[in-house]
Amino acid sequence: MISVIIPFYNESENLATLIKHLIKVNNELNREYEIILVNDGSTDNSKVKIQKSKLQVKSQNFKIIDHKKRLGKGLALKTGIENSIGENIVFMDADLQDDPRDLPKFIEKIDQSYDFINGIRIKRQDNLLVKLYSNLASYFLKTFLHSPYTDINCGFKAFKREVLSDFVFYGNSFRFFPLAVYYNGYRVTEIEVRNNPRHFGKTKFGKGKIFTGILDTLTAYFLYKFSERPLHFFGSIGGVIFLIGFLVSLYLTIERLFFGILLVTRPLLWLGIFLIIIGIQIVMTGIIGELIVFLDKKSNHK
Ligand code: UDP
Ligand code: MG
Repeated sequence: MISVIIPFYNESENLATLIKHLIKVNNELNREYEIILVNDGSTDNSKVKIQKSKLQVKSQNFKIIDHKKRLGKGLALKTGIENSIGENIVFMDADLQDDPRDLPKFIEKIDQSYDFINGIRIKRQDNLLVKLYSNLASYFLKTFLHSPYTDINCGFKAFKREVLSDFVFYGNSFRFFPLAVYYNGYRVTEIEVRNNPRHFGKTKFGKGKIFTGILDTLTAYFLYKFSERPLHFFGSIGGVIFLIGFLVSLYLTIERLFFGILLVTRPLLWLGIFLIIIGIQIVMTGIIGELIVFLDKKSNHK
C-alpha cells in the first residue's frame, strides 16, 4: 500500500485539481493507496474545497487531518506519517509544483527494492537566489558530508516506512531526513521529476528560506559531523579566537615592556582581552557539550 502525504497551507485553488490528478494516476497504478491531506491550519477555504472534491471519490482512500494552527511543513509531514498505514510513503507538495504523473516512477524504484528515492527537479521553478543557495547547499553537503543527493531540498520523495524507525521528526529536521536515511545505511537513489510553475496561491517560504536554509545546512553539518565530539567543533573555533587574542596581547606586552609604549594609548588592548574571553567561552561550550554526550552514553549504557 502507498500512502501519499500532502501537507498544505492555504492552497484552496490547487487542491481540487491535485486530488483529481492523483486519483487518476493512482487508479492507473492499480495499487492500494491512501491520500493523506494535512491541513496545516489554513485560513482560507481550502477545507471546503476538499470536502467538495472528496465527494467524488471513495472516502476510504482519503484522510484529512487538521492542525488547529500553522505548525510548519515539517510537523505537518510528521502528522501525516502518524496517520498513515501504507508500507510505502510518498511526500509531495499541494501546490501542483510536484507533478502526480511522476508518481509511477517513484513506485517503480521502490519495486526495484530501493528504500529511499529523492527527486531531482529538472527546470526548477524558483527564483535565482533560492536556486543558487540550494545548489550551494547540495554541493556543500556532497563535499563535506558525503551526501548522495543532487537536489536535497526537493520535497517530492518516496520511501519505505522502515526508514523512519530511527529518525526523529522535529521542527525543520525534515530537511536533512534524506541524509539521515542514507547515513543509517539504507539504499537510496534519485530520479528526475518535473517541477511546474506555481499557478495559484503564494509560496509559503519566500526569501527567508535562504537564511533558515543556511542554518539548516549548518545544523546538518554539525549534527552529523560533530554531535559525538562537540569539543572538536567548538574547541577549534574557540582555540583560534583565543590564539589571536593571545598574540595581540603578547604584541602589546612586548611593546610596553621593551619599547615603553603605554597601554592607555593602545585601544587594541580591548580587542585582545575580548578575543581571549570569547575564545575561552567557546571552548567551554565544547566541554559542556562533551559532558552532555558522555552522560547520555553513560546512562544508555546502564
Ligand atoms: N506548507 C505547509 N505549511 C507551511 C508552509 C508550507 O503545509 O507552514 C506546504 C505548502 O502548502 C505546500 C508545501 O508545504 O504544499 C510547500 O510549500 P511552498 O510551495 O510554499 O514552498 P516552495 O515550493 O515555494 O519551496
Ligand atoms: Mg511550491
